[in-house]
Amino acid sequence: MKIASVEIFRHDLPVKNGPYKMANAEVWSLQTTLVKLTSDMGRTGWGETCPVGPTYAEAHAAGAQAALQQIAPALIGKPVQPLTVNRVMHGQLNGHNYAKAAVDIAVHDLLGRHLDVSVADLLGGATTDVVPSYYATGVGAPDEIARIASEKRKEGYPRLQIKVGGRPVDIDIETIRKVWEKISGSGMRLAVDGNRGWTTRDALRVSRECPEIPFILEQPCNRIEDLQKIRPQVHHGIYMDENGTDLATVIRAAGTGLVDGFGMKITRVGGLQQMAAFRDMCEAVNLPHTCDDAWGGDVIAAACTHIAATVKPALLEGVWLAEPMIEGSYSLGDGVRIVDGHIRLPQGPGLGVEPDETLFGKPFAAF
Ligand SMILES: [Mg+2]
Repeated sequence: MKIASVEIFRHDLPVKNGPYKMANAEVWSLQTTLVKLTSDMGRTGWGETCPVGPTYAEAHAAGAQAALQQIAPALIGKPVQPLTVNRVMHGQLNGHNYAKAAVDIAVHDLLGRHLDVSVADLLGGATTDVVPSYYATGVGAPDEIARIASEKRKEGYPRLQIKVGGRPVDIDIETIRKVWEKISGSGMRLAVDGNRGWTTRDALRVSRECPEIPFILEQPCNRIEDLQKIRPQVHHGIYMDENGTDLATVIRAAGTGLVDGFGMKITRVGGLQQMAAFRDMCEAVNLPHTCDDAWGGDVIAAACTHIAATVKPALLEGVWLAEPMIEGSYSLGDGVRIVDGHIRLPQGPGLGVEPDETLFGKPFAAF
């Protein structure tokens, strides 16, 4: 079975009750990019990539679309094999993992549909059909974030991530304390995500002033060198997120003991093929991690859930989905939803979701 055509679509995902606020960004609506592959046997598969604005990572929607147009012609006639397709893409374009990931996800979906197996099965096999999610607040006033923490604990989320940074660190410390008052003793785990927004001075102060609160610090500062600097001085575990741009960086961070875990984004690391390698590397060194993406609709949500279902449960920190933050859905059927803080693995072959193509209009590029 070979790839016969590649179609690329754009679609807007408006932020519900926007904006969504992080240390370095404020977003109202995100343009997602969808890739539809059709095989010479008439089967289709869908992939997606949706950077959360142009400042979260070295990625943006127009960049994904330009990169996909650079890559797509070389995909025609290639076998529907994830590893082969990844190598073809690397031969066409250096970097731009977040764009390549959309093709990688589509190849997995197409192959799964052809073989009548789920993507989780292609990735090694699901250990569960329900995976834990976690809720991520935006940056907000301490009392408001504490109120959300209490609400999400009652809804059944096993983990909460609060966003901090981009304001005086005293307010971040007050937020952490007020949130912990609401969730302490409940079993809900806490991650404090700086999204690169703190100085090393701020990160050290937060850790020093909250030694009794067992949160992990997620990507508190901008650079790997900053994490190296604070590492010997903090009381809290450090997770790498934005700095984990490829497998080589992740291997170095894990191998040198720089981090205690990862927030990992499927499109950042290059798709499901790379994500499976990342999962296996983490299992080999016993490091927990998430399986998320920065943003995206049901195709991304399904891809995150399928790989998460294959992770050793003790090492799975959870799956964050943009779904609760997005107005509307582009899927036929139920799509992928968070219920009581957990996500059911979509059923059926491939990713188990079916985008409603009529919502996307004409493809902006086709090969
Ligand atoms: Mg993060």
